[in-house]
Amino acid sequence: MRKLFSDGSPSLDMSSEPFPRMVLVNGGAGFLGSHLCERLLDAGHSVICCDDFSTGRRENIRHLLSKPGFRVMEHDVRDPYDVDASLIFNFASPASPPDYQRDPVGTLLTGVLGALNALDLARRNGAIVVQSSTSEVYGDPLQHPQQESYCGNVNPIGPRGCYDEGKRCAETLFFDYHRKYGVDIKVGRIFNTYGPRMRLDDGRVVSNFIVQALQNQDMTIYGDGHQTRSLCYVDDLIEAFMRFSGAGTNCNGPINLGNPVEIPVLQLAELIRDLTNSRSRIVHLAAAVDDPKQRRPDISRAAEELGWQPRVSLRDGLEKTIRYFDAVIGQAATEGRE
Ligand code: NAD
Ligand code: UDP
Repeated sequence: MRKLFSDGSPSLDMSSEPFPRMVLVNGGAGFLGSHLCERLLDAGHSVICCDDFSTGRRENIRHLLSKPGFRVMEHDVRDPYDVDASLIFNFASPASPPDYQRDPVGTLLTGVLGALNALDLARRNGAIVVQSSTSEVYGDPLQHPQQESYCGNVNPIGPRGCYDEGKRCAETLFFDYHRKYGVDIKVGRIFNTYGPRMRLDDGRVVSNFIVQALQNQDMTIYGDGHQTRSLCYVDDLIEAFMRFSGAGTNCNGPINLGNPVEIPVLQLAELIRDLTNSRSRIVHLAAAVDDPKQRRPDISRAAEELGWQPRVSLRDGLEKTIRYFDAVIGQAATEGRE
């Protein structure tokens, strides 16, 4: 078993790669993709950021444009493409429920065709291909915490099905390309991740609560707020993907990547209200259809295979995220006055 890292220990990440790679990051202008592009560039790799800017933003990658080795390719991953890359990250997909439910058919096709096109490219190039799968493959889980061997409880015909089933089908394609064509795959199942560069209006729980609290608006709980999530800070998640895609492991996954500290949504609202010194009221709205009641990753496989565990506490991660949102809201207010 590999050792878990402790603060200050050298990282088993992509910087230990023997040579710099040409890396394709699909969805590179999104929340997670932009952090990934940045980490890869910092580790000395060249990065092509492929994005259709449907839910991502040019703002997220503006600071990378002047870095040597960074290029942007505006493209919809549902259409085939040819890029000279030896490592491919397939992160292109809407991820927030309001985003993916706005165009359910497009979301499903992005899940399936996006995976297929990334796999075909990997097969042609002999490249490693990394899939950003999701805890949503477990649906409303009947096993708790969720282990990778659990096959899930997804409603295929509900409003979340377009995302969940697209991601499940993508995993099937990944493992079939691996078995049938020997493609080097890495499938990571991401649990709820938050941090700077989330869109203020993306509709996810952390962004909604922080924006509402900072503006002393009502904080909207869907249902009774007893449903739980386990929230991972973005830097921890990106570290996990750097290790997963690097030379240090042969693991194909699937592998749960997330922070196992679980919190009810109502308690999260109270915590964010406290951290922002907000005067917001907490109000209850109708519960979302098929909303998973509990979610918490078992991350023993990630610890074993990657020597990884999250390091940033919920309180610290929320404080960093609050500072980011506060600055963005302040800047928007200044621009509005000009
Ligand atoms: P995001 O919406 O911020 O980023 C997704 C990016 O993909 C955006 O830049 C968007 O413009 C781009 N994109 C969407 N459809 C595309 C298409 N057809 N062609 C090209 N580009 C397209 O979301 P995120 O939170 O950064 O999520 C990134 C990936 O991680 C997604 O695949 C998501 O399913 C997965 N994931 C995220 C979380 C999380 O908590 N953030 C959890 C589980 C899985
Ligand atoms: N949620 C909420 N209020 C909001 C946004 C979300 O109560 O303003 C709840 C939502 O119903 C779910 C949890 O918070 O139970 C996480 O929602 P999110 O959309 O962030 O992620 P997902 O449902 O995909 O885990």
